[in-house]
Amino acid sequence: MPGYDIAALKQRIAGIRYEDNPALVRQKSRDFYWYSPVLKRQLDAVTGDIVVAPATEAELTQAMAAAFELQIPLTPRGGGTGNYGQAMPLSGGVLLDLSNMNQVKTVAPGRVAAQCGAILADVDRQARQRSGQELRLHPSTYHTASIGGFVAGGSGGVGSIRWGGLRDCGNILRLKVATMEASPRLIELSGDDLHKVAHAYGTNGIITEVEMPLATAYEWIDLIAGFPTLTEAMHYANALGEQDGLLLKNLAVVAAPVPHAIFARHQRYLRPDHHVVIVIAAEHALDGVLAFTRRHRRAEILFRSDQAPDADRKGLPSAFELTWNHTTLRALRQDPSVTYLQVLYPFPRQIELVERIHARFGAELSAHLEFVRFDGKITCFGVPLVRFTTEERLEEIVHIHEDMGALIFNPHRYTLEEGGMKRTDEVQLAFKRETDPRGLLNPGKMIAWDDPSYDYRSGRTYLFPALAERMAS
Ligand code: FAD
Repeated sequence: MPGYDIAALKQRIAGIRYEDNPALVRQKSRDFYWYSPVLKRQLDAVTGDIVVAPATEAELTQAMAAAFELQIPLTPRGGGTGNYGQAMPLSGGVLLDLSNMNQVKTVAPGRVAAQCGAILADVDRQARQRSGQELRLHPSTYHTASIGGFVAGGSGGVGSIRWGGLRDCGNILRLKVATMEASPRLIELSGDDLHKVAHAYGTNGIITEVEMPLATAYEWIDLIAGFPTLTEAMHYANALGEQDGLLLKNLAVVAAPVPHAIFARHQRYLRPDHHVVIVIAAEHALDGVLAFTRRHRRAEILFRSDQAPDADRKGLPSAFELTWNHTTLRALRQDPSVTYLQVLYPFPRQIELVERIHARFGAELSAHLEFVRFDGKITCFGVPLVRFTTEERLEEIVHIHEDMGALIFNPHRYTLEEGGMKRTDEVQLAFKRETDPRGLLNPGKMIAWDDPSYDYRSGRTYLFPALAERMAS
């Protein structure tokens, strides 16, 4: 591992908060990579040399200029809730903690602007208080993830049933980005240029400010419906998602017996034999949702937050904390040996494909679906729970999914390409040449930068050389 001149860095960042206690640096050098047994094995030894925590754009660019001059890598971190080791410094160096850059700057009709480190729940609360509006989209890590980390590392989540994902035009309005150069520049991006840095894991610029669209804020009601079969639950959810007149915020299916086993605080409302559909609906849509549900004779409403006793209204987690990767988290708490996948079942044969895949795997895979609007069509992502045996079997399960027609966004890979579409993103690569000429930002996460001739179809997993060294030592 290269030795960096951290003493010289400290001199150049005088006045900026930093932490170099190795135990605390190690703690901040982690995210939720441990969800994956593969990443856990590969990344456990990863740690930075120092955490630098600027509070202003001026401090940020000062720290970036110093790291550039001394050729010290720099890995940004918002809330550290990413699942793929995205915010872990594979080459050591500076862990850039952005949590102090957390101001909500402006709220206007249809838009909110905030500094990158602002926590999504804070942004949402301020938008509600100041204007009666709310964020369209947030991950289920609403209370802990930052707005910059969501844009740089997330994809969608709560709200995606109505608004699609972050990749869709209009779901991010503007980004301000600092470059990694001798004199860092601040660049404003909008329109198609947003794709240069959105979901680039901070490899080609540090997002300092984010402007997101807002929608009218409503009171949201949590509903859980139970079904005797997974097929009925899936068909109901798909059809409910297609009801254009019903405003929903989230729509998920979790197969029995998992909900009863892992949703501990909702357990008394659930039964082990129920496959559940978790719905978050606007208060004004509730009557419509209930009328629609009555058409499904075998559906049973198990839980309604508007009718729950006071203690439960206050004490139960919001239903979105039962969905997306919170489902996985709750399953892992019950049984650390489970793992998961991220699957897109393409429209229009999504339900049939889910059925075929789950029939193929039986008890090795447990269904968890998140319904979303994808290019204007209702379809579903899967975040199935997988009974983990070996890494080889996990790979085999991935390949079987792909052979059967599903798309896998592999959560057991730390690189952008292998976790995504398995090809070079030329736009992000070109932007990196411009904004990070020395390749110091979050090294090891963009294969196209490190190894332009890498063959994604080779079947082997990319191993970043600096990480290989660390694993060997
Ligand atoms: P971090 O983990 O700190 O960073 C994420 C990536 O962005 C890293 O590569 C980091 O280097 C980079 N980064 C951070 N800040 C900046 C910046 N200012 N400029 C440039 N790069 C930056 N994801 C979803 O999309 N939807 C979900 O519903 C969802 N649910 C989740 C549930 C659980 C329980 C967990 C553990 C994760 C979930 N995730 C989900 C993944 C993760 O929470 C989201 O991606 C989240 O938005 C990340 O925000 P963060 O602030 O924690 O980012």
